[in-house]
Amino acid sequence: MESNIILALDIEDKEKALKMATEVKGLVKAYKVGYPLILSTGSSVVKEVSKIGEVIVDIKIADIPDVSRDIAKNLTEQGAQGVIMQGFVGRDVVREVRKEARNLYIVAEMSHPGNTDFISGNSEKIAVMAKEEGADGIVAPATHPERIRALKKISGLKALSPGIGTQGGSYKVAMDNGADYLIIGRSITLSSDPKQKIKELLSQR
Ligand code: C5P
Repeated sequence: MESNIILALDIEDKEKALKMATEVKGLVKAYKVGYPLILSTGSSVVKEVSKIGEVIVDIKIADIPDVSRDIAKNLTEQGAQGVIMQGFVGRDVVREVRKEARNLYIVAEMSHPGNTDFISGNSEKIAVMAKEEGADGIVAPATHPERIRALKKISGLKALSPGIGTQGGSYKVAMDNGADYLIIGRSITLSSDPKQKIKELLSQR
């Protein structure tokens, strides 16, 4: 069975990140590359990781439509198989990014406490928009598994869920609530045996 784990490569050192990616190759569905790695090593790291496996770039794109589209184009050209953007910026931005992203994943709700300040009150509308605009999936938090279930039902899209382990969410509970892919970082990357840690998680399926 194909792995449902997306490894968050939040490692601020290129050699270490590439070593980690190589070590767990075959045990993860994709690598999520975000600000920590890109800002410390340069965006060319996207291409390097993409030689090892599928890369989803998570810089939560949230700019005006034209700028957001050009960011997505740049990332796709560098080898990104998918990009993550914020949904709260609105439909016109989503529409432009859709033109350049191979796979488009839209953040519908976040996992941190401040999520309730502004985002959570609109997350259902974001999920509907994601569906209507042809996104490939939504990002919904494993720290609030009932929200994965609700947002997945509303959108009918695949759910990518971060927040497992270090942030308190559970791999099994997230899956039981409909998560299709689990975005996991530190509880794997900081483990003394990342491969074994992934195998333990996968054995809960
Ligand atoms: O280390 P940990 O497993 O907590 O990493 C979670 C990853 O998922 C981080 O890369 C973080 O940026 C990302 N993420 C998140 N919550 C969201 C969206 C993305 O934790 N709502």
